[in-house]
Amino acid sequence: KYPQVIIVGRPNVGKSTLFNRLVGKKIALVDDQPGVTRDRRFGHAGLMGLEFEAVDTAGWEDEDPESLPGRMRAQTEVSVKGADAALFVFDARAGITPLDEEIARWLRGQGVPTIVLANKAEGRAGDAGILEAYSLGLGEPIGVSAEHGEGMAEVYAALVPLI
Ligand code: GDP
Ligand code: MG
Repeated sequence: KYPQVIIVGRPNVGKSTLFNRLVGKKIALVDDQPGVTRDRRFGHAGLMGLEFEAVDTAGWEDEDPESLPGRMRAQTEVSVKGADAALFVFDARAGITPLDEEIARWLRGQGVPTIVLANKAEGRAGDAGILEAYSLGLGEPIGVSAEHGEGMAEVYAALVPLI
């Protein structure tokens, strides 16, 4: 049984793109429209020789992501507690949104080691967003590009001590 790494974040930040890169197959649906990932997806992931079970989630996408029921349901649906580590993904180009802050606050209460990934950071477009993410209280953010495969060595280095 491999350690489990759960990918968490608000809609459209690139969770499924990251999942597909880690798993190496197009298992998760990626779309410009939020809400295409209907439920959790599991895949055997490899990152520079490190093997784990990746979990793509859509907990904040089932309904209006800003609504209280949507967020509450996510809290019970996304079984972060059973995971060995969480990758909290946000959109570094968009910066930290209120929903990012809310999910991060919730994650801090789950007791699961969390790595903050500032996605869409290719071409330094995410530099300001990366700095903003220190305020989440989840440690040092890592700038990545799930689409272009940038930052994966840093993700590896952060994951190794956790899983
Ligand atoms: P999810 O809703 O969090 O699963 O996000 P998706 O993986 O479906 O991606 C949402 C959108 O962001 C898609 O249009 C992706 O192509 C785009 N995207 C994902 N990763 C990156 C990235 O590293 N850079 C850029 N520029 N776009 C990305
Ligand atoms: Mg998705």
